[in-house]
Amino acid sequence: MNLLVLANNIAAVRAKINEALTVAGRHPEDLTLVAVTKYVDALAIKELLPHGVEHIGENRLQEAVKKQAVLSDLKNSFTWHFIGSLQTNKARQVAAGFDLIHSLDRMSLAEALHKASQTLNKEISVLIQVNVSGERTKHGVDPAEVGAFYAEVRKLSGLRPVGLMTMAPYSDDPEASRPVFRELRLLFEQIKRDYHPGPQWRELSMGMSNDYMVAIEEGATIVRIGSAIFGAGTEG
Ligand SMILES: *Cc1c(COP(=O)(O)O)cnc(C)c1O
Repeated sequence: MNLLVLANNIAAVRAKINEALTVAGRHPEDLTLVAVTKYVDALAIKELLPHGVEHIGENRLQEAVKKQAVLSDLKNSFTWHFIGSLQTNKARQVAAGFDLIHSLDRMSLAEALHKASQTLNKEISVLIQVNVSGERTKHGVDPAEVGAFYAEVRKLSGLRPVGLMTMAPYSDDPEASRPVFRELRLLFEQIKRDYHPGPQWRELSMGMSNDYMVAIEEGATIVRIGSAIFGAGTEG
C-alpha cells in the first residue's frame, strides 16, 4: 500500500463524509468511520493510526485474529468491528476479540453470544443485521420480524443491542440504496417507540464505499468503508 495514496484516500473520504454531514445538518461526533481492512494486511492497519482511523472492520474471523496477533500491543489502540456472517460455533472467539458485532441475524447466534458473555464475563455489544432489500443472498432478519427479534435479544442479559445494520444491494447508483437506508432508519425508530431501549440504542451501521454519502444523509452513525480507502483494485 502506497502511503501517499492511503493518506489521500482517507482525506478524500473524510471530506465527503463532512460534506454529507453538512447537507444533513449533523455533527461529526455523530459518525464513526470504520475502515474495512479485509483487503489488506496488518501492516496496512497500522498505517491508519497516524490518520486517526481507529475503528477497524473485518469480516473473516481467522484472518482478523492473525492480523490482531501481528499487531500485538497495537491491537488495543483500535476498536474492532466484526462485520461478516458469523457461525454459531465461533461466537465465543468473536466475542473475545471484537468490540462490536454488526451481524446478529438469528436467535441461535444470540444465545451462543449470551453464553460466551458469561464465560468471558463481558457484556457483548451487538447490532441486529436486517435484510431490508430481501435479497436471498443476503443475511439478516426480515424487516417484519425485527421488532420481535429485538424483544427476544434484549432478554439475554449478556447482550447489549445498540442498533441496526444493513447492506444495500450493490449498484453503481448510490441513490438506489436510499430507500433501503431510509427503511432501516424507520425500523430503528419503531423499535425505539415500541420498546424504549434507552440511550444505548443509538447506532445505524449502513453505507459502504459506493453509497456512504447517501447513508449519512439518511442517518447512518457508522459507515463501513473499504475500497475507497485502500484502493479500487482491492478484492474482498
Ligand atoms: C467489504 C464490506 C464492506 C466494505 O465494502 P467497500 O465497498 O469496499 O467499502 C462493508 N461492509 C461489509 C459487511 C463488507 O463485507
